[in-house]
Amino acid sequence: MASTVTRKFGLSKPLSVFKYYRCISNVPSRDAASNPNANKRLEPCQSSSLLDIGTRRIFSEDHDIFRQSVRRFMQEEVIPHHDKWENDGQVSREVWEKAGQMGLLGVDTPEKHGGLGGDFLMSCVVGEEQLYANCTGPGWALHSDIVMPYISHYGTKEQVEKFLPQMTAGKCIGAIAMTEPSAGSDLQGIRTVAKKDGADYILNGSKVFITNGYMCDLVIVVAITNTAAKSAAHGISLFLVEQGMKGFVKGKKLKKMGLKAQDTAELFFEDVRLPKSALLGEENKGFYYLMNELPQERLLIAIFSLASCEFMFEETRKYVRERKAFGKTLAKLQTVQHKLAEMKTEIAVGRAFVDQCMEIHNTRGLDSSTASMAKYWASDLQNKIANQCVQLHGGWGYMMEYPIAKAFVDSRVQPIYGGSNEIMKELIARQIVND
Ligand SMILES: Cc1cc2nc3c(=O)[nH]c(=O)nc-3n(C[C@H](O)[C@H](O)[C@H](O)COP(=O)(O)OP(=O)(O)OC[C@H]3O[C@@H](n4cnc5c(N)ncnc54)[C@H](O)[C@@H]3O)c2cc1C
Repeated sequence: MASTVTRKFGLSKPLSVFKYYRCISNVPSRDAASNPNANKRLEPCQSSSLLDIGTRRIFSEDHDIFRQSVRRFMQEEVIPHHDKWENDGQVSREVWEKAGQMGLLGVDTPEKHGGLGGDFLMSCVVGEEQLYANCTGPGWALHSDIVMPYISHYGTKEQVEKFLPQMTAGKCIGAIAMTEPSAGSDLQGIRTVAKKDGADYILNGSKVFITNGYMCDLVIVVAITNTAAKSAAHGISLFLVEQGMKGFVKGKKLKKMGLKAQDTAELFFEDVRLPKSALLGEENKGFYYLMNELPQERLLIAIFSLASCEFMFEETRKYVRERKAFGKTLAKLQTVQHKLAEMKTEIAVGRAFVDQCMEIHNTRGLDSSTASMAKYWASDLQNKIANQCVQLHGGWGYMMEYPIAKAFVDSRVQPIYGGSNEIMKELIARQIVND
């Protein structure tokens, strides 16, 4: 039977069918299995623009159809409002609900869990198109591809039924709160505690830098449940905390150098009484769940980094072909041409690796070490490209009315969050020396 996403976008067949087919056979690519013209798909570096639809072997025509709809949505419903949202420090509730109606949320959450039943690559299309639109405001990827999977993978039937359909509809906004003022990279150093009180838990502590934190209706909170555990990792649990619960207080929206339209906030928990039904998964298994889910978060950061590189490259190419100096366009200068050639080559190399990671993740899940490589390398590349693109814009590149300036400041956080790039190198190195 066709999935919701298949029906909604008029796709040829359910994407889950392709996924299954590739798992049980040695067919090299989804497209090769379903479409003899698949291997004729160009890679972005072979196409006239890095943003062209219909490129990349990892995608199919169904993904292209979906991408066209998402691109139109960005142009009509997101880009025109983004400046206002940047001033407000948050996007509108309305755009969340419109995204829900359009089928852009919970895209790869299974239908039986209230999602749309697409594949991971489809979900990535939404995030990539957000970066191509240079609109980082809506925290949809965190909601759909980070928060929803926790509930889908570890939630009870009641939790799944209560939250996931509402999240797919954009009526319940999700967040996840790990970081604390005194514990970021060192997650085991958190102090937020959920103490047993009969069948309930009493939650106390605070969190900081929480994406969607101001607008969220539901937040997954990481808390200590066993202070006597043999290591902190063995005494951590996850809780579903809802807006309106007594003692759950949202702090101010934090002022950031970039991601201005995204509501990043502090959260406070003051004797919040949580029923047992708020526990996500098993008690004291929280750290294990986090380790399972973090590779996808890191891969997503890599995916958005590459998409941002492609956007910035095309933006800069356009600019240097128009901007005149010394009687000709900047694009006619050999040093500029060489810089563009270097950037395009590096982006093409990055695209090959990130697409490979996406394909692996789509079929069998990406390991932590490779996801860390992708996150660290792609986010560093994004910052390098951002810096060079601003340089090629001259003084105009420093003006916030120019898209490249916004892309530059938005890039800076990518090597920091989701686990800093220094921590990524720790994880990669650990796997190297332990083997
Ligand atoms: C815009 C934004 C959104 C965010 N969204 C969320 C969210 O939704 N949920 C959430 O829980 N968190 C979120 N974060 C928090 C983010 O994940 C942390 O900021 C990040 O993990 C780094 O932690 P920290 O800021 O405490 O830095 P620290 O851990 O204090 O690190 C400071 C520096 O020391 C380095 N360092 C630390 N330990 C080591 C080590 N062992 N070896 C080498 N170097 C090391 C780090 O790499 C970094 O360069 C967000 C942050 C930002 C800025």
